[in-house]
Amino acid sequence: MKEFSNRITQLFKIKYPIIQAGMIWASGWKLASAVSNAGGLGIIGSGSMYPDVLEEHIRRCKAATQLPFAVNVPLLYPDIDKHIDIIIKEEVKIVFTSAGNPKTWTGMLKEKGITVVHVVSSSKFAGKAEAAGCDAVVAEGFEAGGHNGREETTSFVLIPAVAAAVKIPVIAAGGIATGRQMLAAMVLGAEGVQMGSRFVASEEASSHSRFKEEVIKANEGDTQLMMKQLKPVRMMKNDFYQQVLEAEKKGATVEELTKLLGRGRAKLGMFEGNLSEGELEIGQVSALLKDILPAGEIVKKIWQEFMNGIEQPVKMN
Ligand code: NDP
Ligand code: NDP
Repeated sequence: MKEFSNRITQLFKIKYPIIQAGMIWASGWKLASAVSNAGGLGIIGSGSMYPDVLEEHIRRCKAATQLPFAVNVPLLYPDIDKHIDIIIKEEVKIVFTSAGNPKTWTGMLKEKGITVVHVVSSSKFAGKAEAAGCDAVVAEGFEAGGHNGREETTSFVLIPAVAAAVKIPVIAAGGIATGRQMLAAMVLGAEGVQMGSRFVASEEASSHSRFKEEVIKANEGDTQLMMKQLKPVRMMKNDFYQQVLEAEKKGATVEELTKLLGRGRAKLGMFEGNLSEGELEIGQVSALLKDILPAGEIVKKIWQEFMNGIEQPVKMN
């Protein structure tokens, strides 16, 4: 059979348009290189890494795979200049930026020959990313875990809206963990998919095993988008969530929420495995996840399901 090829596989020089999201405390070099070695695009999530840690992860990733990989840089990161310097010095070829204005860094990264993709939650932001010179956008819907857009646009609405708004290729994210969901996203106009939660439940993810186990136990309704006054974040419903809920019901101010959140909540929950007091960031699609698998197997399984889906896309009598 002919090799699958579209603008996303060509842009990143990968076999399958399957991208593993950059996720704090979950996606280090082990996960990123495993996904890239399986023919997808692995991403190192730099948001939780001090500059020397990021440098180490990039070096190890380069040693573990000959294939393309990327680094995700949340534009809210405090030491962003240092991260950008390392990315350039280490000759990383692809950067995904998120949570901020794409105008700030895209031009400079493009001048260095780096492929730049920006994560957006609306067609308006997608237009801004295209105008800033990005090579592609990730359209991330309301279902997604972690930081999220305020407008609550779901993937089913966001994907076709963004695909109509820009000429650059669109990667769909939010609520995707199976090959059939991938097929639906591609039918709606995406040319690739980015998955986070599915890869949290992988052997190579650096998240704590207790968090991974909690993710595969989750049911529908077990996550909610909270703290819209600060940075909106989808999290699992645990004791910490209950505290945020109570505070928000009482009309907590930004200062009060910031104090309640404190520092390092995400690390406490997802990396150190404190399931009650930590912030557990995961997508709605956790409800469909039932197993922790090697990342390479996940890529293979999703691709097979996707191809089978193409042959028999809808149920008929
Ligand atoms: P907090 O302010 O609560 O804590 C900072 C955390 O980041 C600490 O755990 C710290 O590790 C670690 N860290 C890594 N590098 C630095 C640095 N240069 N300065 C300070 N802390 C650093 O933030 P969060 O944990 O909520 O978020 C961390 C980062 O990840 C932010 O940049 C945020 O924007 C980003 N983020 C991105 C998401 C996404 O969707 N891409 C989702 C959530 C967060 P230590 O405890 O070891 O000191
Ligand atoms: P502001 O909301 O003040 O935004 C700063 C500037 O960046 C504004 O010009 C804003 O555009 C622009 N901007 C913000 N996010 C994007 C984006 N994703 N794509 C293109 N342009 C963007 O500052 P904050 O730091 O508070 O920004 C947080 C915003 O980012 C919130 O709206 C949040 O919901 C969103 N966000 C999106 C994420 C994602 O895309 N996955 C992840 C995390 C946060 P304008 O003035 O036109 O609004």
